[in-house]
Amino acid sequence: MESIDCIVAGAGVVGLAIARRLGRAGREVVVIDAAPDIGTSTSSRNSEVIHAGIYYAAGSLMARHCVAGRQTLYAYCGDHGIPHRRCGKLIVATTDGERAALASIKARAEANGVDDLAFLDAPQARALEPALHCAAALLSPSTGIVDSHAFMLSLRGEAEDAGVSFAFNAPLTGAEARSDGILVDVGGDAPMTLGCRLLINAAGLHAPAVARSIDGMPLARIPTAYFAKGNYFSCTRRAPFTRLIYPVPEPGGLGVHLTLDLGGQAKFGPDVEWVDAIDYTVDPARAARFYPAIRRYWPDLPDGALTPAFAGVRPKIVPPAVASQDFMIQGPDDHGVAGLINLFGIESPGLTSSLAIADHVAGIAAAAR
Ligand SMILES: Cc1cc2nc3c(=O)[nH]c(=O)nc-3n(C[C@H](O)[C@H](O)[C@H](O)COP(=O)(O)OP(=O)(O)OC[C@H]3O[C@@H](n4cnc5c(N)ncnc54)[C@H](O)[C@@H]3O)c2cc1C
Repeated sequence: MESIDCIVAGAGVVGLAIARRLGRAGREVVVIDAAPDIGTSTSSRNSEVIHAGIYYAAGSLMARHCVAGRQTLYAYCGDHGIPHRRCGKLIVATTDGERAALASIKARAEANGVDDLAFLDAPQARALEPALHCAAALLSPSTGIVDSHAFMLSLRGEAEDAGVSFAFNAPLTGAEARSDGILVDVGGDAPMTLGCRLLINAAGLHAPAVARSIDGMPLARIPTAYFAKGNYFSCTRRAPFTRLIYPVPEPGGLGVHLTLDLGGQAKFGPDVEWVDAIDYTVDPARAARFYPAIRRYWPDLPDGALTPAFAGVRPKIVPPAVASQDFMIQGPDDHGVAGLINLFGIESPGLTSSLAIADHVAGIAAAAR
């Protein structure tokens, strides 16, 4: 049986960032993914926004990793020629009653070290975005957008340069924690069992299921997986905005917001649809809810301008009744299994945070050696 130093299960943006980080630290790394290519799951089904770090509870992993990850990501994009734009965003109160929400969002952001948010009254906001309707707004200048595929390709390339190898169509189907390491069963066309000293479970939506398949992992430490689908509609007309436009957040998500791609094309979403199984089809009938939500801040959205685009699924580890969750990154000190690191609940802002999450995981891995 072949034995290697580290196995990373999952080649989404987080698994890629971790593999690159460990490979550059001199460790022998093999990445296995159930899918035929990198980033086919949540990492290619998101808004591609570089978040500033505004909404998350002070001191949470989301707050810390988003702020650190955003700074590292902008630097990485600059250094590696990854297409991105620091376009800024407006969080809008569409009624006087929502002004208080803006104040609490600003206070929360400041507690996270995001101190560049500016209050705008309606004329100031309209001076920036003439088509916008709002009672007031918060301007976040450090929010931006990134080409997530170019970023992931770059991470993969740097990982390979550092000696990391990749196996696709190679799902982790089970594992056994032993005193001398972890035995990992890999399925697919060429099933095999590999031994490793370090197993990183970065399987995204399937991370709780992967953890349950590891003999020796205490079930009580594995969160229940919940799926909150986010549907997107694209805009068939040119939207008259140059910044991202967000309403005040709603339970489970950030509200039906307008984001732009690097070509200036607008998309709207994601909404929040709790589902029992992963399914990426977008029901065109959901447009009926998007129009009124969008017209609260863009009253001139023309009839018929929305067309179903794509969906992503948030890897939730809390049920719908719980308003917020944090990333859950478990090392041996948390679950008692030597050589195992689990990443659960890596929903937004996981793309923004990926490089900081990789640093966090590398720290646990180094301490566990
Ligand atoms: C609707 C939506 C919008 C979002 N918008 C943003 C945003 O604008 N900005 C931001 O920062 N973040 C955003 N996010 C969050 C971000 O997309 C995720 O946090 C990030 O992509 C998670 O990456 P990952 O590598 O953990 O998971 P994934 O991308 O899901 O990768 C997991 C990988 O594991 C593989 N896998 C699964 N099971 C197995 C197995 N048994 N064995 C081996 N491999 C396996 C899968 O094939 C997959 O490739 C959004 C998320 C959603 C759902």
